Amino acid sequence: MIQYKALEMHSHTLHSDGNFTPEELCRAAKQLQLDGIALTDHNTLSAHAYLISHPEASRIPVVTGIEWTTFFGHMLVLGAESSIDWRDAMPDTLDHYLKEIRAVNGVTGIAHPFEIGSPLCTGCHWDFAVHDWNLIDYIEVWSKAAPTTQFDNIQAFDMWTRLLNQGYKIAATAGRDWHWEGPTRLHSAATYIGVENGEVSTRSICDAIRAGRTYVTAGPVIDFQISSGQQTYAIGDSLHSGSCRGRIIVDPTVRQEIWGDFGIKVREVRIVANGDVVLSMPAEGTQESDFDLKLRPGWVRAELYGDALGETEKRIGFTSPIYVE
Ligand SMILES: [Zn+2]
Ligand SMILES: [Zn+2]
Repeated sequence: MIQYKALEMHSHTLHSDGNFTPEELCRAAKQLQLDGIALTDHNTLSAHAYLISHPEASRIPVVTGIEWTTFFGHMLVLGAESSIDWRDAMPDTLDHYLKEIRAVNGVTGIAHPFEIGSPLCTGCHWDFAVHDWNLIDYIEVWSKAAPTTQFDNIQAFDMWTRLLNQGYKIAATAGRDWHWEGPTRLHSAATYIGVENGEVSTRSICDAIRAGRTYVTAGPVIDFQISSGQQTYAIGDSLHSGSCRGRIIVDPTVRQEIWGDFGIKVREVRIVANGDVVLSMPAEGTQESDFDLKLRPGWVRAELYGDALGETEKRIGFTSPIYVE
């Protein structure tokens, strides 16, 4: 059975430019009531080597990852069984490396694609040409604070939607890009990932991302399903076009101690198909709604809107798509 678990998908330690020891990072993640963390230091796996030799240091499951940090973009690589050298990757040759990563069972996600690049943050802006977007497993659609009006996150969300409209199957994640504990608490969304029997491991998280079983939320947890005939389809699944029945459950009781102080309140659920809002429903508290849908080929996702951080009509959460053949 698939269960969704809360993860932080982008983090650093003092093995690259973070301030955390691996122990401190795991402790901070535990305090956020996360079920796991992807540790993605810049161009090094040495924190993972440390955690292997000091298993008592990781108090929560740690997903093996690295942030490919190049002059032309940053890319999160999870679960690769051997490391692929990034140093010769040029703006036009990335596909070759993406295939190599896939050949060693790694999954790849584009990190903060619209963050300002050089000279402020060398290579932070995504400048690689991807010729075959089927080679990209996920996009970090929300980076750092969320929900946010930051233009770079809006651009990343739009980029993801454009690629879905072009027919690519790409999951969405959020990433705190966690380097240190700031003096003031920063709110950031969590990525919920659907893993078999609730088991969080490098392998299970990679499998779930490949299957598209992710959603991002700054507040309540989400369950989005579609029934057609005798079958029920979940996030990441594919079904045939036509008339079907949708179901969404929004539950604000999970991890509320973590996000409750940020004025987050869901007021509306939207169902978005191929980039257009096809249904909008008011929402409050624990929400359980069933509704009719007529789906055309493409994709459909759920989005939550409401109050956050003193603003209204903010996008608070969104699922990766259910695909329609
Ligand atoms: Zn980065
Ligand atoms: Zn980073």
